[in-house]
Amino acid sequence: MGFSQLRLSFAYRIVSVNLGSFSQAGEAGDAEYNPAVPELPEVEVLKRSLEPHLVGRRIRSIEVREVRLREPVRPKLLARHCVGRRIVRLRRRAKYLLADLEGGYTLVIHLGMSGRLTLAAPATSAEPPELHEHVTFLLAPGGASRKPQRLRFRDPRRFGLVLSLKTATLDRDRHFAHLGVEPLSEAFSGGLLAHRAAGRRAPVKSFLMDARNVVGVGNIYVCEALFRAGIHPFRSAGRIARRRWDTLAGAIVEVLCRAIEQGGTTLNDFLDGEGNPGYFRTALDVYGREGEPCRRCRRPIRRKVLSHRSTFYCPGCQH
Ligand code: ZN
Repeated sequence: MGFSQLRLSFAYRIVSVNLGSFSQAGEAGDAEYNPAVPELPEVEVLKRSLEPHLVGRRIRSIEVREVRLREPVRPKLLARHCVGRRIVRLRRRAKYLLADLEGGYTLVIHLGMSGRLTLAAPATSAEPPELHEHVTFLLAPGGASRKPQRLRFRDPRRFGLVLSLKTATLDRDRHFAHLGVEPLSEAFSGGLLAHRAAGRRAPVKSFLMDARNVVGVGNIYVCEALFRAGIHPFRSAGRIARRRWDTLAGAIVEVLCRAIEQGGTTLNDFLDGEGNPGYFRTALDVYGREGEPCRRCRRPIRRKVLSHRSTFYCPGCQH
């Protein structure tokens, strides 16, 4: 499904990032693979799909039912900064969704491990909140909707985050100050990565998964990008030739953009109405394919654990 189609379906369907798209996750033999964790592409798709629904709308009220998230929610502060304010812009930084509001504050939402943000159809009755719906934002009519709507934050594992920060100093806040370059920004390049990696002994895979170097390149995407670039995941970051960094940077952008175009790998509702696995996953070259033949050289794909994460690669094509 292309993005335009996705956007269309969002116009009349409930907007949500769904969980547990791949219930047969164990099939890959990857015990720690958690299909529910939203990655950068999922948050980007969520941002793009929510944008027409949220921008221009006023937050009427906020209902907090559970404050114990990754950090405690502060209902009074949240209300003071957000209630009565119009959403002027929606942004993404790493895996944070940011709604800039009138009045100089930004509503910050992170989906954590299992968070889900749903734009509910206008309530017709006194419909109870969903299970694990910890925070609900009531939105005044506006934007693409003539009726009030509810933006529901649901998070069974409670690793998510809902807070408000001053927009002007957001970049200096402790949640954001350490974050490295956005892989989909113009600043991202092989040269930048090469510069940062100079002298580093850490495996290139660990280097790329460190948010201080580049944000949002999760385990699946880093495995795929390294395969495309022909680089062994265990190779020291400081020992990669300059031109190979260009190839790698290109591969990262390609892999992420492909996931975004296809709606994010865990956007189950929209990718996969028929109950089939999301098709981006079926198109993966190495991730989850241990023992299966490499699509290029036919040698079996290997899986090794690096920093507690499964690492898939082809011993023939990556060095
Ligand atoms: Zn191969």
